[in-house]
Amino acid sequence: IISMEGVNKWYGSFQVLTDIDLTVRAGERIVICGPSGSGKSTLIRCINRLEQVQKGRIVVDGIELTAGGKNVDAVRAEVGMVFQQFNLFPHLTILQNCTLAPMRSRGMSKAQAEEVAMKYLTRVRIPEQAGKYPSQLSGGQQQRVAIARALCMSPKIMLFDEPTSALDPEMVKEVLDTMIGLAEDGMTMLCVTHEMGFARSVADRVIFMADGRIVEQAPPEEFFRQPKDERTRQFLGQIL
Ligand code: ATP
Ligand code: MG
Repeated sequence: IISMEGVNKWYGSFQVLTDIDLTVRAGERIVICGPSGSGKSTLIRCINRLEQVQKGRIVVDGIELTAGGKNVDAVRAEVGMVFQQFNLFPHLTILQNCTLAPMRSRGMSKAQAEEVAMKYLTRVRIPEQAGKYPSQLSGGQQQRVAIARALCMSPKIMLFDEPTSALDPEMVKEVLDTMIGLAEDGMTMLCVTHEMGFARSVADRVIFMADGRIVEQAPPEEFFRQPKDERTRQFLGQIL
């Protein structure tokens, strides 16, 4: 459902991604880890065209991303994204946060969009918060709203960029549990995270990045049992 071939990206003269080849099948769950500055966020931001690449080919659900800018809306409709900072609209209620995009870009009526929103808010187990504003919710609740909001667009792929790293420890589990639920429902997911317990139990494949390259990738059993590259071993030694 995602194919990246020979992807290279520069910020000015700094090369942030080098020769990235990555294929993701529908329903696959991928965890991406690696040191700070290795290009993890940049890589997943290329998949929904928040970033452009200078070289290589990216195809998402049959949509070619590198051809001009005309497919941006099409791909954003297929790909949901959840960030470290929840990025909710502070002046809108939780319900309004969830209904805005479906009404604007899916052409849903208000009633339809609210029905969908309540379905997903129930699924992330906070339907009772619908009338509140983001600032009235805990971090874990806000992140679950961000996930529900993305789901309201019926994405085929969900991207997560360190969704739990801004949360207090006691709220990490509720967000991870929500993500595990999504994985169990068969969602195609790419998650940048250092939650290695999550990687072990949920990922089909763990990717390790360093210096803008995919250094190695393997199913979690293999990845954690016998990492091949010295940089992977060092990294795992630091975080495990
Ligand atoms: P972290 O774990 O800290 O989130 P990351 O692996 O997600 O790191 P990226 O955010 O993808 O790393 O950044 C990779 C490199 O690109 C870093 O060296 C960063 O300084 C640089 N970079 C990122 N965004 C820009 C930008 N808009 N302009 C210039 N350089 C950038
Ligand atoms: Mg990052």
